[in-house]
Amino acid sequence: MPANNSMGCGRAEDRRRRRAVHRAALGAAPIRFDARRRLRLPLAFRSAVFVAMLLALSTAACMAAEGQSPSPPAEAPAKANVVLVTGEDYPGHKWRETAPVLARALGAEGRLKVEVVESPMFLAEGDLAAYRVVVLHMKNYDPAKPGPEGGKRLAQFVRDGGGLVLVHFACGALQEWPEFVELAGRVWNPKLRGHDPHGRFRVEIVDRKHAITAGMADFETTDELYTCLDGKTPITVLATARSKVDGRDYPIAFVLDYGKGRVFHCVLGHDVRALEPEAVQTLFRRGTAWAAGMDLKPIGQTD
Ligand SMILES: [Zn+2]
Repeated sequence: MPANNSMGCGRAEDRRRRRAVHRAALGAAPIRFDARRRLRLPLAFRSAVFVAMLLALSTAACMAAEGQSPSPPAEAPAKANVVLVTGEDYPGHKWRETAPVLARALGAEGRLKVEVVESPMFLAEGDLAAYRVVVLHMKNYDPAKPGPEGGKRLAQFVRDGGGLVLVHFACGALQEWPEFVELAGRVWNPKLRGHDPHGRFRVEIVDRKHAITAGMADFETTDELYTCLDGKTPITVLATARSKVDGRDYPIAFVLDYGKGRVFHCVLGHDVRALEPEAVQTLFRRGTAWAAGMDLKPIGQTD
């Protein structure tokens, strides 16, 4: 700005000043846009701003079309659709009794919307992409249902960012697909001793820093202590139990990453009684929320 401008010399400047004083006296000084003083921004910058505005407008339009409100992208979803896949298992596993108990336990986490599908074929033919988490509560004895194709679809679902939860004998599912051990972390090896005699045992939380088990205390349960898990896939063990038969500690709950997705695997849950303890339900509930990518507060933390 030239220095003499501040002096306001000349007739035109005098007239402008008088008009300004007059307007000030009326209390209605208009805001004028001086076209000659527009900012001269670099062309590249203006183009970038234009493109950004177009993108923002198109994003808002898409969200409006889908009935969503625009919000910043976030890793942690506010809600998640969960599909609990069951419908076939070892005859001693009464999935018609246990599946509703498990579904209710997961649904107690208000952010999880749980649906039950009573067919393992869902893995081969179902719309997995409609869900954030697949909970496997099944063991297919028919190798053709869902077959390796079901395993590959499930793997792709998790690789793309979906969550997977395995319950009890789901470690024995998909035996016809050898790569299952990379997805499940550990799988049932029929050559190993299956489990301790059904009975009471203590579950020890061995990782109290993980989001799922933060603030969780050890607990007692009545179930089958699985001793049949096999595999070398890297896992993070969250809970163990000591066998009364051989005195060894066995993994009870563990997690792993697979592609962009998360896997929570817990071998508890033989029957309704085994799924009833609050600690067991908490473990599955928090494991499923974690697999969905949700934020979890440590147990006992209120804010
Ligand atoms: Zn069992």
